[in-house]
Amino acid sequence: MQIDVTLQARHATALRELLQRPDGIEAAAYVMFGRNVVGIDPWSRRRRLRLVSHQVVPVPAGDEISASPRHVTWSTATFVSLCRQAAYRGLVPAIVHSHPAGMRAFSRQDDVNERDLYRLLRNRNGTDAIMASVLLAGDDHFMARAWFDDKEPVAAEIVRSIGSRLLHFGGESGASNAALVRQALLFGEAVNNRLASMRVGIVGCGGTGSATAMLLARLGVGQLALFDDDIVEISNLNRLHGARRADADAMRPKVEVLAREITELGLGVRVHTHRGWIENEAARDALKACDVIFGCTDDHAGRLFLNRFSHFYLIPVIDMGLAIEPASADMRDMSARVTVLTPGAPCLSCRGVVDPKAASEEALRRAAPEEYERQKREAYVRGGQNPAPAVVTFTTETATLAVNELLQGLTDYRGEGGWAWERVRRLDRGIERKRGAIRSPHCPICAREDYWGRGDMDPFMDRIG
Ligand SMILES: [Zn+2]
Ligand SMILES: [Zn+2]
Repeated sequence: MQIDVTLQARHATALRELLQRPDGIEAAAYVMFGRNVVGIDPWSRRRRLRLVSHQVVPVPAGDEISASPRHVTWSTATFVSLCRQAAYRGLVPAIVHSHPAGMRAFSRQDDVNERDLYRLLRNRNGTDAIMASVLLAGDDHFMARAWFDDKEPVAAEIVRSIGSRLLHFGGESGASNAALVRQALLFGEAVNNRLASMRVGIVGCGGTGSATAMLLARLGVGQLALFDDDIVEISNLNRLHGARRADADAMRPKVEVLAREITELGLGVRVHTHRGWIENEAARDALKACDVIFGCTDDHAGRLFLNRFSHFYLIPVIDMGLAIEPASADMRDMSARVTVLTPGAPCLSCRGVVDPKAASEEALRRAAPEEYERQKREAYVRGGQNPAPAVVTFTTETATLAVNELLQGLTDYRGEGGWAWERVRRLDRGIERKRGAIRSPHCPICAREDYWGRGDMDPFMDRIG
């Protein structure tokens, strides 16, 4: 079993505030984690448990029994009530404590205390109960581990924090890649290492998606997962990076062609491909194993799916779109849009980027093509849009904007303090701006926090049908 942990940035901040006391005394708190169980990780072929922070629960003032710069003990009353919640909501309770002096290791005393707490949990919730433990060492270093039995805990490979930046604690490989030295001159070896350790998904491998995949491979992202259902057609050759005439003649799947091109670069990228619709259960493990996903689809249902997914699993989605309204009398609008979807940012529905009616029509077309055709004939659904115009320089520019947003999240190279939630470049006017949005006060995705870091649920993502 491999383990990693993702904290919402606001949770990491709350934990620092709860645990860093001016008197230098150890302190504690609880976190309720959602669980993201990846049955078979597409790269390691092993089972992976990814814990995602759902809620921070302070230890009530009355619970503390004693604390010093070297220890903290508190009553387990609150923990017992969290165990109850964990059982019926499928969450994982965690204790969090600090080492103010900065020791980056769990102590023998930590082992003893946690084993006792784990036994308490197991006696209450059964032998398949899982407990996590998070350590804040010094001012800003998080470590974590999980208990599956009362013998030895399993250390988390990495702890991430996601918010307006992508931060991480641990997990570096330390290896240097000779092909990427010129990039290291700008961002440093650490960013290359970080990219090499990352798992990035690309949903949609058409004009923008193929460009995105090639750019990520050349940046040195170590693991890529490509998702697309289509084959290469002659009319794609004007913009599909890596595709050849022979691929169209042989009707090869786009994911296969892209994987071939990336492998032949010889940069050591490990590519996983999935041919099929993104909502299929067969795609789920690979999707849930990603650290970041690029949304390169042009369908509304797929965008709505990723919009929801990013919040449940704390996997940021960098969604992109190219809108070219064909020239009318004297007006034209050619816009490249990049939107970051993550808890705390206004979501795609609230931005009006997705059209729920179009999304339900697409879902119908996929699930019941005959019914879709019948409704189309009777004009209940609109259907039959003409193919949209596409020019390789514009699709590639859109992809470049999106991949640069990933770099911004990793390096803050624009010096603006993290991600712009949405950026729109008017290609016909040469101007670019950030676009704000007003959250609908009732939006279940971005206005309420119930789903943020909720992880696995039955039904999947709390959707019925
Ligand atoms: Zn400790
Ligand atoms: Zn919303």
